[in-house]
Amino acid sequence: MVNRERLIRTTQELIQIPSPTGEEREIGKYVKAELEAEGINAERDEVGNVYAVVGEGERSIMLNAHLDTVPPQGYKEDPYGGIVKGNKIIGLGASDCKSGVASMLEIARSVNENELGGRLILAFSVAEEGVLKGKKYPKGSMYAVERYSADGCVVLEPTMYNGVPRISGGCRGRMILEIDVKGKSAHSSRPKSGKNAIEEAMKLVKRLKDHELLKGRYFGDALEETLSIVRIESNSPATNIIPSLCSITVDYRTLPGREGVKEEIKRAVRDSGVKADVRIPYFSPGYVLDAKSRFLQIFYESVKRSFDMNPKLMVALGRADSEYFYRKEIPAVIFGPGENDQCHKPDEYVLIPGMVKATNTVLGFVKSFLGRETDRVGST
Ligand SMILES: [Zn+2]
Repeated sequence: MVNRERLIRTTQELIQIPSPTGEEREIGKYVKAELEAEGINAERDEVGNVYAVVGEGERSIMLNAHLDTVPPQGYKEDPYGGIVKGNKIIGLGASDCKSGVASMLEIARSVNENELGGRLILAFSVAEEGVLKGKKYPKGSMYAVERYSADGCVVLEPTMYNGVPRISGGCRGRMILEIDVKGKSAHSSRPKSGKNAIEEAMKLVKRLKDHELLKGRYFGDALEETLSIVRIESNSPATNIIPSLCSITVDYRTLPGREGVKEEIKRAVRDSGVKADVRIPYFSPGYVLDAKSRFLQIFYESVKRSFDMNPKLMVALGRADSEYFYRKEIPAVIFGPGENDQCHKPDEYVLIPGMVKATNTVLGFVKSFLGRETDRVGST
């Protein structure tokens, strides 16, 4: 069992260290120092990720959570207060994802190295909420998968729903499209002598909205794609000038594993008959684990045992770093102590009872997965 008070205190202390994307240095130092205080060697890499390995052996499991947060917005409480009110800890990142970071630290402290017949790899990563600029990879976790392989990975993003756990065995994909629609500038008193790029863009938006969004079923639930226009702007410098350029940004969430969707969407733009340049600055196709995946089954049983209920299995609507592990053939689930609906909300909180239970669940899973030969569950 984990130490409840220490877990709460760690979550509070993590909240008290501001760490918006790009400013993870201080929190990285804290995490490293906390591990070293337990006699665990910890290391920071060139982008600021912190790693530690506990135990020895062939078999391995990786835990991953991100150190960064989005910037605070709309807070009434102090975003960096980390105060406890009733059964909540309040502050920026309480659920997304500092309680996950605290869980990992608490698991590292609670696990007895001698009980493990394998390696517990801890990867605390930077730049999950944003991107690394001018580096080899845009996301911190992409460095973690380059450094370590594992037999499975748990990403501790929030998957609690009012204290009730769910497990994500995959995530939807995400594509960002930047489209420059071309027109021809003219005086707005004679619009017909030009071509209004905004009006052209409207035709294209209509075509994109008509693009067939797929529906699927995963773990028994319906899931669908969504396509949203998130930004639109023209280059018109004055109110009496017809714009020659209109830029649209689209956020497209795909069903898992839709590798071919890039070509499909480019075709839709071509078919609209509108003159446009398309860029895809980001595409991550998402993934889903086979429901029969051994790793998923073992993890599911751990949650079931710990909470004494059948947890819901699902595909996360948002993209998650677990995808990078999956791509390196490491089966990855998303399961963490935070409240899922609290992500990026003002006065974000985490519920203490669920946080403690979820942390004990992951600890129990680690112990059974990496246990010594005799008491190991699910050895292959
Ligand atoms: Zn997160």
